[in-house]
Amino acid sequence: MTTETSPIERIASRTAHVGGGISVDRVLPVRQRRRIGPWCFLDHAGPARFAPGQGLLVEAHPHIGLQTFTWLIEGEALHRDSLGNEQVLRPGQVNLMTAGIGISHTEESLPDQQVLHAAQLWIALPPDKRDMPPAFDHYPDLPRWTESGVESTLLAGTYAERSAPTRVHSALVCLDMYCEAGASFRLALDRRFEHGLMVLEGAATVNGEAFGVNELAYASAGRAELSLAVAAGTRLLLIGGEPPTDELTIWWNFVGSKEAIAQAQRDWEARSPRFGSVKGYEERRIAPPPLPW
Ligand code: MN
Repeated sequence: MTTETSPIERIASRTAHVGGGISVDRVLPVRQRRRIGPWCFLDHAGPARFAPGQGLLVEAHPHIGLQTFTWLIEGEALHRDSLGNEQVLRPGQVNLMTAGIGISHTEESLPDQQVLHAAQLWIALPPDKRDMPPAFDHYPDLPRWTESGVESTLLAGTYAERSAPTRVHSALVCLDMYCEAGASFRLALDRRFEHGLMVLEGAATVNGEAFGVNELAYASAGRAELSLAVAAGTRLLLIGGEPPTDELTIWWNFVGSKEAIAQAQRDWEARSPRFGSVKGYEERRIAPPPLPW
C-alpha cells in the first residue's frame, strides 16, 4: 500500500529525433513505466534555438486510438491535419487532436521562427472511445492562477476545484507550474491518481530528492501531497490519472490492440481514405518501421 513516505521513482529522459533540426527529450513510455494514468507519451522539445527554416518539421503521419496534446511554452508551431484544420499554436495555448479511428497531421515551426519550447503528450483513449471520429480542438485560454509564488496553468482535467475546458475522455490532470523566484510549497494531489512531475526548466527537490531538467518524479496513487522546493526560474509539468488496468499496445504512432495497429499500418501504407491527406503533404508522408510482431 502506498503511503506518504513511499519512495518517489525517478524516470530519466532519452534523446529522440522527431523531424527537422531539433531533437527532443522523451520521458514516456519507458520500460518500467508505459503510462501514467492515460498519459502514454511525453516528449519535451527545447528550449531550442535554431536558424530560420531549421526548426521542427514533422511530415504527414497517422495516429489512432489516442489524443495528441501539445503545450506551447515559447515560439510558435503550425499544426495541419487531414480534417482540413490549420492552427498556429502560441505560448500559453494547447492543441488537442483526437485521433480515434484515424487522422493524419503535420507539425512544423513557422519559417521565421528561431525558438521552440514545447511539450507533446499522448493520451490513450479508453477502449470504448478508441474508434471515435477524429477531431481537433485549439485552446487559447486556460485557467491560470498564482499562489505562493507559483504561476499555475491548468492544461487538462481538474485540479484544486478548477476544471480545464480541454476535451478529454478519462479522469486526469495536466498542470504547468512556473516559479520565477525560488519557492517551497506542498503540492496537493488527487489520491485516486498516480502522478508524474517533470522538470521542464530549473531544478526541484521532491520529498527531499533532487530532480534536474528532463527528469520525472513518479508517485503512485494514494498520496495526498508532495513536498517541493524549487530553484528560481523552474518550470514543472504535473500529469496524473487513474492507474490503468487494461492492456495496451503502443507502436509507432498508434495505440490499441495489436490487430488494430497492424490494420492501421496497412491502411496508412495503402493510402486508405481512413487517414485522409494533409494539404501540401500528399507526397511528404512518413513511412512506418516494420511491425515487430
Ligand atoms: Mn503526431
